[in-house]
Amino acid sequence: MVIDGKALAAEIRSKLKGDVETLRKNGIIPKLAVIMVGDNKASQVYVRNKSKACNELGIEFEEFLKDENISQEELIILIDELNNRNDIHGILLQSPIPDHLDIREAFNRIDYKKDVDGFNPINVGKLAIGEDGFVSCTPLGVIKMLEEYNIDIEGKNAVVIGRSNIVGKPVSQCLLNKNATVTVCHSKTRNIKDIVKQADIVVAALGKPKFVTEDMIKDGAVVIDVGINRGEDGKLVGDVDFENIESKASYITPVPGGVGPMTVAMLMNNVIKAAKQF
Ligand code: NAP
Repeated sequence: MVIDGKALAAEIRSKLKGDVETLRKNGIIPKLAVIMVGDNKASQVYVRNKSKACNELGIEFEEFLKDENISQEELIILIDELNNRNDIHGILLQSPIPDHLDIREAFNRIDYKKDVDGFNPINVGKLAIGEDGFVSCTPLGVIKMLEEYNIDIEGKNAVVIGRSNIVGKPVSQCLLNKNATVTVCHSKTRNIKDIVKQADIVVAALGKPKFVTEDMIKDGAVVIDVGINRGEDGKLVGDVDFENIESKASYITPVPGGVGPMTVAMLMNNVIKAAKQF
């Protein structure tokens, strides 16, 4: 069965709209601040999508476009200003940012209560010890998808391919917190095919087009494709060979229309959560 991330995300957004209406009735207008440094074209598309989603839900959106030559000090001053503003509930620093800037220091500086991307070490630590905090949006979207499709996680063998701080590690942590038995593969993993073949749930997040092939997948496995790659023909392609795996998997996500839309819906979820806790 193909998991329709686009439809699920639309359903979630429409529920969240009700939450925003309730907050507004109580005098709270949820607001997201997005900082973007330089003019990365892909980032501009992502930020536009986030702004559209905010608009649709009634969440206020303020964009801070900074010149690529901004200094680290200026960036930190801006983050502090946003941390101190009572009308802003969520702060997001769009990555990538230019190399001369220290993104870790910037993420660390965002107040963990406004850290709707879940990249502040306090939120990373909360996820690690199973405490409530902000979980980054893509991993949260993956788990939400599994839950909404009533896919059992507990006791299942889950294999995550990729160990980045923004996807692979937090998604592994989320699966572990849901009582899966989790194996994390990366570029130094040996016999990756044999490991993936054991999986009941595969999460591919490595950024290599069609890396996961039919011979790596167990019959009936659940296959979640986080990858977004640009194919030779310019079209978007995932990390999974969808066409050849679709009939073998019990559930599979397409690219586009799978995990991507869930990521934006989870950002909205996190902004509303921040506003409720303010
Ligand atoms: P990343 O930071 O480049 O990390 C890639 C990970 O994959 C690394 O841990 C790397 O291992 C591992 N890897 C690379 N080649 C491998 C191989 N041949 N075999 C096994 N592991 C390998 O990427 P990311 O930011 O996590 O993103 C991953 C993909 O998800 C990208 O396509 C990205 O565009 C997409 N993405 C999608 C969304 C969404 O909303 N759908 C959100 C974020 C990212 P090492 O650690 O050993 O280098």
